[in-house]
Amino acid sequence: MSGTDTTTDTGLGTDAVLRLESVRKTFGRSVVLRDVDLEVAPHTVTALIGASGSGKSTLLRCANLLEEIDDGAIFLDGEDITDPRVDPDTVRRRIGVVFQAYNLFPHMTVLENVTLAPRRVHGVPRAEAEERAHELLGRLGLDGKAGEYPDRLSGGQQQRVAIVRALAGRPRLLLLDEITAALDPELVGEVLSVVRDLKEEGMTMVLATHEMGFARDVADQVCFLDGGVVLERGTPAEVFGEPRQERTRRFLRRLV
Ligand code: ADP
Ligand code: MG
Repeated sequence: MSGTDTTTDTGLGTDAVLRLESVRKTFGRSVVLRDVDLEVAPHTVTALIGASGSGKSTLLRCANLLEEIDDGAIFLDGEDITDPRVDPDTVRRRIGVVFQAYNLFPHMTVLENVTLAPRRVHGVPRAEAEERAHELLGRLGLDGKAGEYPDRLSGGQQQRVAIVRALAGRPRLLLLDEITAALDPELVGEVLSVVRDLKEEGMTMVLATHEMGFARDVADQVCFLDGGVVLERGTPAEVFGEPRQERTRRFLRRLV
């Protein structure tokens, strides 16, 4: 099933997996994203940083079509997914999402949680879905957990299951929204190391995070959001090492 690279040449000189062009998003009278441009190259990690309320989650939700944008356009593999003729479900099947709270179904085992979407949404036969699930669980250090219910797992294990679930549909892109924010500090490392492994394997990811050390370490591109604007972007060395904007400097100072 899927897994094939369907990158299309847009003729615009870009092979970006995800591209936001002048995206504007409002809630009522408040402008939450203002003229946001973003380009995510294949096999790269983009870290979204910024204070609470700066628009990181909204950006990720727009990219996954969980929110409708007011203006601008979003392209996935060159296809304008904000075109009203595009079926949001087919877009979401190409994108894996993990949120802060694990969101696993408590009444289902790990295996059922992981195979539900491939079976129901992608139409993958049970045996095939389970084989892929076991393979992913093994890769993420969850061997032997397939039959457990979520409440029997630690927070870090639950979040790793949520990542397995997001990977089960062989997504083109992974969106991770503060996936360690709800974890006890001693469990953060095991989840971040999974993200590192996925990067090694070439997965394209956009992640919102408050873990600055991690962003610095793993990201190819860092975007600092401030009041719905991408105020600064660059390599981790640029944004963390020599931020150009006073607001970025102030934000980073507050964290140390
Ligand atoms: P972050 O993830 O960076 O903390 P969010 O994207 O969650 O920021 O929020 C950005 C702004 O949008 C905030 O001011 C928030 O209150 C507002 N916002 C987010 N979702 C909604 C919503 N569904 N309705 C109204 N306002 C919202
Ligand atoms: Mg958020």
